[in-house]
Amino acid sequence: MWQTIGQSKALALFEYGLKTGSLAHAYLFVGPSHVGKHTLALEIAQALNCYGTEPPCGECKSCRRIADGKHADVTIISLNSSIGLKEAKSRVEIGIDDIKELQRNASLPPYEGKCKIFIIDGAEHLSNEASNCLLKTLEEPPRGVIIFLLTAEEVRLLPTVVSRCQRVELKPLPGKEIERVLIGSYGVNADNARLLAHLSQGCVGWALMASIDGSYLEQQGQRLSEILSLVDVSWEERFAFVSRIGNDRRLAEEIIKFWLVWWRDLMLAKCGCNQGITNINCALALEEWSQALSLGKIKDFIGSLQESLDRISRNANLRLVFETLMLDMPRKE
Ligand SMILES: [Zn+2]
Repeated sequence: MWQTIGQSKALALFEYGLKTGSLAHAYLFVGPSHVGKHTLALEIAQALNCYGTEPPCGECKSCRRIADGKHADVTIISLNSSIGLKEAKSRVEIGIDDIKELQRNASLPPYEGKCKIFIIDGAEHLSNEASNCLLKTLEEPPRGVIIFLLTAEEVRLLPTVVSRCQRVELKPLPGKEIERVLIGSYGVNADNARLLAHLSQGCVGWALMASIDGSYLEQQGQRLSEILSLVDVSWEERFAFVSRIGNDRRLAEEIIKFWLVWWRDLMLAKCGCNQGITNINCALALEEWSQALSLGKIKDFIGSLQESLDRISRNANLRLVFETLMLDMPRKE
C-alpha cells in the first residue's frame, strides 16, 4: 500500500517496526531534495494512525486527513510553516519558538488519532538554540510521539542531534527506474521520461512534479541560458547579474547547485564521459563549450562553486559570494 517509490531498505525497516511495534522515537531521514523523505514520513504517520486493514491504506478518513495536511496530530515544521507566533515568510532558520511549540504540543495526548507525529522538514535550518532545545525531547520524548527530522545536508546538524536519532538514508533512484515509473504509472512519453529521469538526478519527486508542471523544464532552460550568456559577457554585465540575485539564500543555493550540475556535465563532456551527463538535452552546447574551455579552468570553477555553497551555509554575504564567482568564472578561449 506504500506510495513511496524505491527505498526498499527504508520501507522494510518501517514495515518491520510497524508490525512489531518497535519503532524508534526519533528518526533522521538523510537524502537529497525530492528523493522522497517527506512522502515517506507522511506515510509512516498515516500507517500509525490508519483505521484500514492494511496500513497505510491511503483511503480511511485518517489517511486522507494526513495527506491533505489537516490531521491535528501530524505537525510539519519547516522554513515555510508558521507554527508559533512568527510569520513564516522569508525566514532563514527554524527557531526556538517552533521547538517550544512542538514540546508544548507533544506533551498533550493525541487529539484525533493514535500517535502524534512531528516532521521537521529541512532540519539543517534549525538554529543552534532550537537544536539545543530539541535535544531534551529527542532524549526523552513523551509516549506516543515520533519525531522525524528530514535533511539534505546532514553536516549542518548538531552532532548531538544526529546521535539521538535513528538515521535512515534515502538514496537517489537509478534513472532507469524513474523512467519506468514515469512511463508505467504516469503515462509520460518515452523521450520525455528519459529526459526527466536524467535531469532529476535520481530524485523521483522532482521528476514527477516536472512531468505535470512544465515550469520546471522552463526554469531549467532559463537558468541554462543565463549560464551560457554569463560566460561570454563583459564584467559590467556579470556584476549586473549579481545585483539581481538579492538576498534570498535558498534561491542562491539553488542557482549554485544548478550551475554545479552544468559545470560537472562540461567536465564529463571534456573527458568524453558523455554517458554520465545530466543535461542530456544540451549535448551540442556541452560539446561546443567543452572545446572552448580547458579542463583545468572547468575544474577550478567547480571548486569555486563548491566553496561558494560552503560559504553560503556559513552565512557569508551573498553579494560577495556571487561577485567572487563572477571573477572566477572562466571565459571562452
Ligand atoms: Zn488508512
